[in-house]
Amino acid sequence: MAALCRSFRGPLLQAFLNKQAAVCWAPVRWLNLHEYQSKQLMIDHNVNVQHFRLAETGQDADRISKTLKVKEFVIKAQILAGGRGKGVFSNGMKGGVKLTKDPEDVKPIVKRMLGEYLKTKQTTGNGVLVSKVMVAEALDIAKETYFAILLDRESGGPMLVGSPEGGVDIETVAEEKPHLIYKEPIDVFTGITTKQANDMATKLGFTEEKIHMQAAHQIINLYNMFMHVDATQIEINPFGETTDGRVVCFDAKIAFDDNAEFRQQSIFEQGDTAEADPREVEAAKSSLNYIGLDGNIGCLVNGAGLAMATMDIIKLYGGEPANFLDCGGSVQEDQVYDAFKLLTSDTSVKAILVNIFGGIVDCTVIAHGIANTCKYLDLKIPMVVRLEGNNVDKAREILKGKGLNIIPADNFAEAAQKVVASLK
Ligand code: GDP
Ligand code: MG
Repeated sequence: MAALCRSFRGPLLQAFLNKQAAVCWAPVRWLNLHEYQSKQLMIDHNVNVQHFRLAETGQDADRISKTLKVKEFVIKAQILAGGRGKGVFSNGMKGGVKLTKDPEDVKPIVKRMLGEYLKTKQTTGNGVLVSKVMVAEALDIAKETYFAILLDRESGGPMLVGSPEGGVDIETVAEEKPHLIYKEPIDVFTGITTKQANDMATKLGFTEEKIHMQAAHQIINLYNMFMHVDATQIEINPFGETTDGRVVCFDAKIAFDDNAEFRQQSIFEQGDTAEADPREVEAAKSSLNYIGLDGNIGCLVNGAGLAMATMDIIKLYGGEPANFLDCGGSVQEDQVYDAFKLLTSDTSVKAILVNIFGGIVDCTVIAHGIANTCKYLDLKIPMVVRLEGNNVDKAREILKGKGLNIIPADNFAEAAQKVVASLK
């Protein structure tokens, strides 16, 4: 589930906004940018961030350590997942965020990050390969709070989310002290009011007048940016105060609405697919929603809700899903074939479960897709098929065709039991 949630880019928020889960599960790819890219956008929107440079080689790091005139450096591995501070590298080094006052240390630290995999609470498998490192001016932090803006389904608009207890472990705060997570829905037509920004600054615990004013200003600027860049989520953790009285966004995670790509071209051009699961990239080419998971049962379903339910029931009967593949309502035969090609090219998939509810989709389209798959793909693993709904009788007839090695199932539970049993 963690992997699924991560892929839908709503990781932290899900913990304390359970009702919000739909945001997390919806089969939408939201573009995420790296911290350094997000911070560049923030500079353009008058949001306070530290001075920073980007190193892709040891040589870059060397040059930066000599030219970036700061009292202390903070060196941060750039990966799309959060939790870097407490992450571990494949070479054993602890911490994807390092502080040093000595310019001589910068290059060796950067070199120990580049080319290594960083594993954090939010990554899967062996972690993510680090190919870029941010070298920034470190500031003395007096206070760390949490601040985010996201789209809220219930109020139908943006929502401010904040906690005075920010820092690395917001998930724990959400679990143990949910009363310290404050939410403020914004009327999207009126926009954020000064009162709302002030109230949030107060709740975050910015008490001293000048700091309070700065925090409220930053909140307004972040809100305006959220609207201007078509973000679906902006998460700043820590949203902090420095010992010399400045409010600064120390970290940044921004997700963007894919539907707005046409008007946010410069942002979408920065998208980095290097971290994406290659299966997901391949699936996107056939307009399929694919999320790779760690199990061995490949699932072909339609609709995100049915996908979730399918994964749950597989687990209930002792199996582990290998993926979440939603072929959607307007799927065509060739996409069904592509979907199977994708499933079978994954060597960890040892059995396939097709669970389709023909509401919009015609079951015969799926059945023809399956028939083609059996004909052309030389399927060597068991496939359990449960079809229901629109034109299901015709579909079942098609699947009875000669040479189709399919295990039919009449209902959801039976299908799950059969696919789990097929692995034994
Ligand atoms: P994350 O672990 O991926 O969320 O990465 P962050 O950018 O949030 O950094 C992790 C932690 O490092 C933060 O919560 C801070 O406590 C600390 N940190 C980051 N930047 C600075 C800095 O400039 N100065 C100091 N003193 N600590 C920092
Ligand atoms: Mg952080």
